[in-house]
Amino acid sequence: MSKSNLKQHMTRWATRLLDQFLPPRCLSCGSGAQDAGRICPTCWKELEFLQGAACDCCGFPFPFDQVLEGALCGTCQADPPAFDRARAAVRYDDGSRRMIISFKHGDRTDYADFFAQLLFLASYALDVSEAIVIPVPLHKKRLRKRRYNQAALMGQAFARKKQMAYIPDMLLREKYTPPQEGDNHDRQRNVAGAFKVNDKHLAVLSGRMIILVDDVYTTGATVGACAQILKRAGAKGVKIVTVARVCS
Ligand SMILES: [Zn+2]
Repeated sequence: MSKSNLKQHMTRWATRLLDQFLPPRCLSCGSGAQDAGRICPTCWKELEFLQGAACDCCGFPFPFDQVLEGALCGTCQADPPAFDRARAAVRYDDGSRRMIISFKHGDRTDYADFFAQLLFLASYALDVSEAIVIPVPLHKKRLRKRRYNQAALMGQAFARKKQMAYIPDMLLREKYTPPQEGDNHDRQRNVAGAFKVNDKHLAVLSGRMIILVDDVYTTGATVGACAQILKRAGAKGVKIVTVARVCS
């Protein structure tokens, strides 16, 4: 272990030890005095839940109450995604961004059940029977730095809640991609060839429905690339469940 790694490790260890003696803090705003593993009531109220009319495929919210069944947004009409359907629990805005970033980088793995609850809400409108839950994988390099994959943690807790099969290493991330920026086409180029189906799970994948879990749906480029190779490898279908969704 290098010196800086050791220092990072010790800081984490000390923080965790300290957390045992302090009242729980809200993952989002850092205020105290609420139950462990939850966000505070003020931050909860700030979340905007996506429950209304939406694109039948990608879940993009429509600004009216009712739409024809199966209606698609302009993006899905112009460029049909490789996945079957995608749903998110909340809008990605300042409120949801804070708690997701803290979960991703703040070593607050005790929040896995809380995020699984949000995935549960997101999956409400999807038929997930007989499906296998898998996370969007991190590259080994990034996993070493962060120590855990936030999508895998929430995916595992979600699968447990739903009593579904869970395979954390169904997909492997072969290419180290820089943090995503740019429009959908830039992102598609960025993730092209980044993922691979794990050979040892090929037989299990054949003919099965896959529920792919991630924290944020941004343009759909990442989950689209994953869905494409899963289907090529024999998956019957791929549905996406995320905590939050960019809605602009
Ligand atoms: Zn759409």
